Amino acid sequence: MIKIDHLVKHYGANCAVDDISFEIARGEIVGFLGPNGAGKSTTMNILAGYLSSTAGRVMIDDLNVLDEPLEVKRRIGYLPEQPPLYPDMTVEEYLIFVYNLKGCTFNRTKHLEEICDVVKIKDVYKRVIRNLSKGYRQRVGIAQALIGNPPVIIFDEPTVGLDPKQIIEIRNLIRTLGKDHTVILSTHILQEVQAVCDRIIIINKGKVVADELTENINRVIDGNHRYRVKICGPQREVMSMLNARSDISFVESLPDRDGDAYAYLVESAPNVDMRKSLFFALAQKGWAMIGMEPLGMSLEDVFISIVDKTNELGKGKKPGKNRRLRGAALEQDLAQSIIDATAEQQKNIAPYEGEE
Ligand code: ADP
Ligand code: MG
Repeated sequence: MIKIDHLVKHYGANCAVDDISFEIARGEIVGFLGPNGAGKSTTMNILAGYLSSTAGRVMIDDLNVLDEPLEVKRRIGYLPEQPPLYPDMTVEEYLIFVYNLKGCTFNRTKHLEEICDVVKIKDVYKRVIRNLSKGYRQRVGIAQALIGNPPVIIFDEPTVGLDPKQIIEIRNLIRTLGKDHTVILSTHILQEVQAVCDRIIIINKGKVVADELTENINRVIDGNHRYRVKICGPQREVMSMLNARSDISFVESLPDRDGDAYAYLVESAPNVDMRKSLFFALAQKGWAMIGMEPLGMSLEDVFISIVDKTNELGKGKKPGKNRRLRGAALEQDLAQSIIDATAEQQKNIAPYEGEE
């Protein structure tokens, strides 16, 4: 349905998109994940026909975006990073304006009513957009994308600046739309694509670094269990016992003490649950385990292991054209920029406006 073929985009000397190729089938919900500046918005703008490419080809339903821009735009609903709203219009005026702009032929009242139902903006239909909360404005942006009932919908960072409740609502909405649309969700938030998408394409510095089913990516994350364990026992002996176990892949002693217990960072071997057998082994030695606290993986860990793991998955298989994986330096870069981007996002979370 969507085919991006060796896409390249230069802004002057800056290469924002560096030879990207992927295909998306009808009905897929695909996450386009990457740190700020990775080239996501540029790719989405080219895909939606709002920006020309330096090289490469974008096809939607066998139509070339460059050759048939109008036909292609009819097939795509696009929510850009900055939703194209007119703040002085009411929601109703704006949606009618977009309806006319798109040259829709559906029954207008019925069509707009259905859309407002789906995105839940009926209660603000007569209000001026300027006065709406960011959450509502984002939904009006989504409503605009749905006008004309396009089979493909592209969301670019749809939850940036929303509060946690609004984020959940928008994610649910995207999931609902995914039932009968092909959806591309472009974001720098891993949890967002995990929550919504069947498949995740990771992009960094203009290149695709991984293209995997979400379940494979989740397996990588789920299979990595790290705990802070507190054990009352002689530190050196405990360390060597932990190190010797085959169900533990990594041990580190931590500086914190709790009474006569020492703390350790313990990582279980992939896809092994070592908790019970570790408990009994320690008990047999007479060393009491007085704490075992699961530690979530940091985003850095997640990204490094995803790229590692997808590298492994790719081994022995015929390298599919979408499974392009790069070297360690890139992984490090990606992890760092994801962390930076997430910190940036935390800073930008808007205060709850109390409207929803
Ligand atoms: P993302 O959406 O992943 O954050 P963008 O596609 O917005 O990334 O940007 C990719 C790169 O291209 C960045 O380095 C950005 O600074 C640069 N860039 C984006 N838009 C422009 C523009 N209009 N002119 C020049 N450089 C741009
Ligand atoms: Mg962007």
